Amino acid sequence: MTGMGPVLLMLALPPFVYWLWISLAFHDGAPAVSIPAMALEAARPTAAMLLLYIGWWGLQAALAIVLPGRTVEGTPLADGSRLRYRLNGWLAFWITLALAALAALTGVLPPALAWERFGALLTAANLFSFAFAAWLWRRFAETRRAPVRTFFAGAAMNPRVDDFDLKFFCETRPGLLLWALVVLSLAAAQWQRHGAVSAPMALLVLFQLVYVGDCMFHEAAILSTWDIRHERFGWMLAWGSLVWVPFTFSLQACYLVDHTPAFSRGALAAIAALNVAGYVVFRASNLQKHRFRLDPARPVWGRPARYIRTARGPLLLASGWWGVARHLNYLGDIMMALAWCLLTGFATPLTYFYAVYMLVLLVHRERRDHAQCQARYGEDWTRYCHAVRWRILPGIY
Ligand code: NDP
Repeated sequence: MTGMGPVLLMLALPPFVYWLWISLAFHDGAPAVSIPAMALEAARPTAAMLLLYIGWWGLQAALAIVLPGRTVEGTPLADGSRLRYRLNGWLAFWITLALAALAALTGVLPPALAWERFGALLTAANLFSFAFAAWLWRRFAETRRAPVRTFFAGAAMNPRVDDFDLKFFCETRPGLLLWALVVLSLAAAQWQRHGAVSAPMALLVLFQLVYVGDCMFHEAAILSTWDIRHERFGWMLAWGSLVWVPFTFSLQACYLVDHTPAFSRGALAAIAALNVAGYVVFRASNLQKHRFRLDPARPVWGRPARYIRTARGPLLLASGWWGVARHLNYLGDIMMALAWCLLTGFATPLTYFYAVYMLVLLVHRERRDHAQCQARYGEDWTRYCHAVRWRILPGIY
């Protein structure tokens, strides 16, 4: 990527998130062509929200450092060594929920904070992310050459302060957990404003909490994801984790605060079934690969695993979910994304942004992963692709 691409992305993405929020919260979901004075006022940086955001970050860092948890080794690095990671996300998830409930019940923080202060919180997270990325660049860049590209893409693959892994931390705690709190707070806002939490909102919050909780429960699986293994840690991942995830993944809930689409029970049940099916495919396929890599002798769907032996060593599973398509785990994620968006009804296309984003992201990621595996495994990967024809959606793609 040339220096121009990163500059354009850094200039365009933050305003885009504000635009989505303004359209959904101030224009009933119609694409905003003007910015109401109220939105400008709501997005103004405030010392209170900046302090709250810094406090949130500090709390999550403290939980990651002090809570007990097992220590595991990550996947091998380029030089064959492995980094060690402490896993205590599941405990941090429950403690965070308990602390948030306590803060809301005792009046320390208003339950509907994310609705009342969405803009100022978003601004605080943006300011923090840019400052943090600048610090990462100063601290970890070994050369001052190509500063914009290095600031954007990152200088180091696994920047650490002592044993504290900044990329692993940001990918999970201050971003994902904030997303969970934001949707809970938006449901509280609906309750305060309309006296009830609608069925679509309740289902959305439940599905997204399960998704976040599941990520925390299977925290070890994050260590083998693309971001951890192949991406350096700079603005892109830091801003993506700290701003993009909590403030765009929660936009369906933002819309639902003041809008309740009419669904029959059957329609709601069908959407819930889509979400559950997506979750099963997503979780079971990821776990199946994980377990197969740990123990290839373990049966897959009740039979001995079929696999391709590679000259480089790792085995490629060619049965079970991984015999149906090469990335069924991505399909599961896309099905869940669609279910969440469907809960917002059909009055505006903007609430479908998340599903479109996931589709584009995961199709692109499958192509990138395919190219990497082709380069890594050569002929063995070609054999796997012949054995398992479909990329993501059997029969179609
Ligand atoms: P995968 O978990 O699918 O990992 C791909 C890697 O697995 C390959 O590079 C290869 O690595 C190995 N592999 C590929 N095929 C096989 C096989 N048949 N048998 C054994 N190993 C194989 O990819 P991601 O890290 O991208 O995604 C993980 C999960 O995270 C997915 O479910 C995805 O949907 C989700 N995700 C969610 C996002 C979100 O924003 N919500 C964003 C991105 C991902 P090697 O052989 O080198 O070990």
